Amino acid sequence: MSPKTPPASGIRFEQVSVAYGRRGESVALDSLDLTVEPGEVMALLGPSGSGKTTALRAVAGFVQPVSGRVFIGDRDVTGLPPHRRGIGMVVQQYALFPHMRVEQNVAFGLKANRVPRREIAGRVAEALEMVGMAAYARRYPRELSGGQQQRVAIARALAIRPGVLLLDEPLSALDAQLRSGMLAELARLHRELPDVSILYVTHDQVEALTLADRIAVMDKARLQDCGTPQDLYRRPRTEFTASFVGNANLLPVTVAADDADGTERVDFAGTTLAVAPSPGDGPAPGAAATLCVRPHLVGLGEGENTLRGTVAEVQWRGSTHRLFVDVAGHRVKADVRELRTTPLLGDQVALHFAAQDAVLLPVDSVGATASAPADRAPAGQTPADRPAAAPTLAKSAAPGAGGGTDG
Ligand code: ADP
Ligand code: MG
Repeated sequence: MSPKTPPASGIRFEQVSVAYGRRGESVALDSLDLTVEPGEVMALLGPSGSGKTTALRAVAGFVQPVSGRVFIGDRDVTGLPPHRRGIGMVVQQYALFPHMRVEQNVAFGLKANRVPRREIAGRVAEALEMVGMAAYARRYPRELSGGQQQRVAIARALAIRPGVLLLDEPLSALDAQLRSGMLAELARLHRELPDVSILYVTHDQVEALTLADRIAVMDKARLQDCGTPQDLYRRPRTEFTASFVGNANLLPVTVAADDADGTERVDFAGTTLAVAPSPGDGPAPGAAATLCVRPHLVGLGEGENTLRGTVAEVQWRGSTHRLFVDVAGHRVKADVRELRTTPLLGDQVALHFAAQDAVLLPVDSVGATASAPADRAPAGQTPADRPAAAPTLAKSAAPGAGGGTDG
């Protein structure tokens, strides 16, 4: 094994629950089952308060689950103290020691991990080199920009050659331009350390879509969905995923009978629409469901599925126009390119989309889409107006659990 390659070790959550409060009355993580493969980047994506940091802290050993087990590789680490778990961790606020030089900060974890003294200088240099900070070894944190401090924090986490790297919103304190530079850096680091499993906590879908091999979507202390970015974007399984990963039209429909050709038919405000069949058991005929169509897959004019309505708003967004069209009391968004004539407010227009671009979803429990920005709510209908079909989270009485709205 070369000195830079740690043993490949994934992360496994087995039914992990974490509760805060003196009597454990506040459930922050509810029965999490999730596996991060060796060398995989898994993003934990969800609104503020959804339990992401709690999940990370359970891996690091900073909180003790009330039930369930955490594995790193095939080792059950549930009862191990943090420093014996072989993990590197980076948090939002860098957390460098202000009175220590960069090199001392990076050496700190090595000493705590009992790395032999003669190896320390070499390991510090190697870690600083990896994040492009070798020239700053003698500086103090206050002499560095935010981005540089975060690089040092990453170097400190990497210096112990962890099998598992935990990153908790590592870019959220940086401004937008630095953030995209650091995203590219993290992608490069991952290519250089192909055996390190990374659990990357973020509420930012762009970071998750850019960096992750798979995304675990969290809401209200629970795992809602998990899949590759493409999967979650193209075939979300819940309304929450549809609206949190990308932008979505979510239309209330009633399921009609399946066609002999396998195409599903649904009724939307008196119009019959065709939907490609969903994998597995779709909703039964007569059931209420939600039709999800991405705005960029909705075009102007007639097509396989046609909706007619009135233009309520037009936003110019550089490469596209976003049209908001009122269709039978519901606002439908269409991102349209290269318009020869821009529709005017009040114009009657036809919109179309293909059956294969529409996904049929079960109707969510009340409030599950409440963290979507206001422009996602259909006109004249708030998410709370939706009928409840799925059972609500049994422990949703937990104060503050999933109350975030920063999605
Ligand atoms: P996220 O990282 O997704 O924003 P957290 O895991 O930090 O969410 O928090 C999940 C829930 O647990 C929130 O409701 C939060 O208020 C609560 N919580 C977090 N840490 C503590 C704590 N130390 N004591 C009590 N409640 C906490
Ligand atoms: Mg957090």
